[in-house]
Amino acid sequence: MISNRQLFLSYNAQTTEMPLLIEIERAEGVYMYGPNKEKYLDLISGIGVSNIGHRNREVINAINEQAEKYLHLMVYGEYVQSPQVQLANELCKILPESLDSVYLVNSGAEAIEGAMKLAKRVTKKYKIMACKNSYHGSTHGALSIMGNEEYKDAYRPLLPGINFIEFGNIEDIDKIDKSYAAVVIECVQGESGVNLASKEYWQKLRKKCDDNCCLLILDEIQSGMGRTGKYFAFEHYEFVPDVLVLAKALGAGLPIGAFVANKKLMHTLTNNPILGHITTFGGHPLSCAAALAGMKFLKNSNLIQEIERKHQLFKTLLVHESIKEIRGIGFMLAIQLESFEFNKKVIDRCIENGVITDWFLHCTDAMRIAPPLIISDDEIRVACKVIVDAIDSITVASS
Ligand code: PLP
Repeated sequence: MISNRQLFLSYNAQTTEMPLLIEIERAEGVYMYGPNKEKYLDLISGIGVSNIGHRNREVINAINEQAEKYLHLMVYGEYVQSPQVQLANELCKILPESLDSVYLVNSGAEAIEGAMKLAKRVTKKYKIMACKNSYHGSTHGALSIMGNEEYKDAYRPLLPGINFIEFGNIEDIDKIDKSYAAVVIECVQGESGVNLASKEYWQKLRKKCDDNCCLLILDEIQSGMGRTGKYFAFEHYEFVPDVLVLAKALGAGLPIGAFVANKKLMHTLTNNPILGHITTFGGHPLSCAAALAGMKFLKNSNLIQEIERKHQLFKTLLVHESIKEIRGIGFMLAIQLESFEFNKKVIDRCIENGVITDWFLHCTDAMRIAPPLIISDDEIRVACKVIVDAIDSITVASS
């Protein structure tokens, strides 16, 4: 019989020469299970998605209940669908007052596209400032603002009027002027290997955008929904973006994206021409029901409050002479190692020993630690032991 692995390699489009090829039959909580009794501790949450773990019971119940009522009914923005209404309402309750209008889409990249289109409509300008080493998605618009030329060259021409500043560099903010429609920036830069900017940086950026009628579009696709120890990472820095972009963990395991702005700004999508952004499946009822249940679960738990303590536990346990640095905030962590080759060997060893981690798109010599927020102290201890033992064995083998 042809195995699923062979079929995967034959019929599923491949985008890398070295897919992980881990086969998963079932997932529950922080664990994933393979067909031959393999058990993996998920330390990356499907890249920042499974914040409340895999197959949260309340999320599954909400999906089942919604499936009994209706699935797709109509393109986004016409019918009043309770899951969409309730989700937008719940999101606005936890956001600052100025962020009171939610456009639901299908994915992170689409939400970024929508946010950039919104900035053009609001400001009547088209130039966008983005950051070096950023990642905002893989569609043409999102790719245009990716801060890594290597990934873009094969797709030119891309969007015109895109320029780049260095994330976190206060002086670079001065490169933003009145010609820009928007700055698109991650609140915690993820794929660069988890980089943070200071409160001073965010305050200056906020003022610069205000002074130049330029929208501040904040990508919290990876950092949102509790991952950094607050619902949204911008809360750490005490500023409010003009447009907040969410996806990944928002759907609690189902696909969804959202860009959120003030109603006055969002209203520009409704005329001259109407239908400023159209999506058939955006805010799918199943995804909204899952997202809503996920948000309620998070709200009724103390998971977010526990993140800082658990972050410290990781840092206390991840000690080895080959670890150059541990960067990050909350459960967005990067273990800096000496090279990609070393990192890859450690990651392979971790996976062999039942702990799933990986590297970053623009930072291949660092290891990603981004577990579900529900991970327990004991599970953190087990994961850290597997990682430190792997680093130790690779250090010894290469010395
Ligand atoms: N923005 C950030 C910060 C991301 O990490 C990602 C995905 O990894 C995206 C945008 C794109 O999201 P999606 O893959 O849902 O299009």
